[in-house]
Amino acid sequence: MTSKDTRLRVAIVGSGIAGLAAARILREKHDVTVYERGEPSVATGGQGIANFPNSTHILESMGFDYKRVGSVELDGWNSVDKHGKYLHSIDYNMRERYGAPLVSHLRMDFRTELWSSEAGYCPAGDLGLDASTTPATTLWNNGAVNLDPKDGLVTLEDGVRDSPEILVADGIHSRLRNKILREPISAQKTGLTCCRVTVSAERVEQALEHRVADQVKLWELRDLEPLPTWTSGRAVLIGDAAHAMTPMQGQGSNMATEDADDLRLLTQPGVTRDSVPEVLNVVESVRRPRARRCSRIRELRPISPARLIDMRNSMKTAHTPAYWASSSNKPQRPEFGEHISRGTIATFMLRNPPSYLPH
Ligand SMILES: Cc1cc2nc3c(=O)[nH]c(=O)nc-3n(C[C@H](O)[C@H](O)[C@H](O)COP(=O)(O)OP(=O)(O)OC[C@H]3O[C@@H](n4cnc5c(N)ncnc54)[C@H](O)[C@@H]3O)c2cc1C
Repeated sequence: MTSKDTRLRVAIVGSGIAGLAAARILREKHDVTVYERGEPSVATGGQGIANFPNSTHILESMGFDYKRVGSVELDGWNSVDKHGKYLHSIDYNMRERYGAPLVSHLRMDFRTELWSSEAGYCPAGDLGLDASTTPATTLWNNGAVNLDPKDGLVTLEDGVRDSPEILVADGIHSRLRNKILREPISAQKTGLTCCRVTVSAERVEQALEHRVADQVKLWELRDLEPLPTWTSGRAVLIGDAAHAMTPMQGQGSNMATEDADDLRLLTQPGVTRDSVPEVLNVVESVRRPRARRCSRIRELRPISPARLIDMRNSMKTAHTPAYWASSSNKPQRPEFGEHISRGTIATFMLRNPPSYLPH
């Protein structure tokens, strides 16, 4: 049990993947409040999310329930161009190679599971938590408009909150990023467009044959140049606010989950309010190079998809999270994703794979 003097008051701005995953982890020891500008149903980004072993390891350690989410395990990937012409296939064997699966799920379902686990809707026991653990508080329709990283003040639409520790997880178009950087840096257009289609399991055969879909969405892709810093005083940027990258890496939400996991450093014995700025600097020192390496793939354009895959594979090295750094028994975390495509991406999301698909 955490003694009172080490219990921190953490404010998280944004209830996306980064904010909710961090809330789920930090509620294990601290008082956490999430401020979201939108309704509970808010869900930005793609229709489908693929989580690779680098994040499924973490999700499993948080009691994440694939069944409840309707996650589908992927064992391969086919890429085609916009005319349906076959480009390449990749066979995955993630469980065997990395000890955790590659799964795909609807983004909304993924986020709902994270929300349920931080807000206390999932029984604490299912999450591997002590029953006495306090759920986080999530406040909707109350966007943050300013922050003071030195004193730990967040200004919301309805007034100022005193909340010493602040995680800024307000996404790619972050309004608060510049309060930490003190200079205006925003995500730039990449010139790429991503198209994602959703097809129900019943209609997948028809969809493949006639190229029809239940839902089609287009994104004009943007990303962020590596930022000079992520921290200022008692505040830190996480998720897309810190390292928005294109979906080519399939790693945005995976990196957001890793960010949250590395913030576990704040739950370690000996962390006090006074040491928070130093701890956030350590987290940044681990996270920033890692995200930089992941987003670096964008710099490799224009190269053929096969070359990109080679380049990515050659970057494979295990990553040691900040809170394991001093441990003699360092678990290895697999390197990021296994697929890269250029140009238009079409992804079919299958909630329940039909029996005629190979298993
Ligand atoms: C088409 C597409 C496909 C993708 N596919 C994948 C994939 O397969 N795998 C993968 O890992 N990643 C994928 N990504 C990337 C992934 O969606 C993002 O990296 C991830 O959503 C980032 O999470 P986040 O929490 O940082 O930001 P977001 O999910 O954008 O959440 C930010 C939250 O902050 C709230 N907010 C914003 N401003 C304020 C404010 N001032 N005050 C309060 N709240 C605020 C927003 O309403 C939102 O709820 C994809 C992205 C796109 C666009």
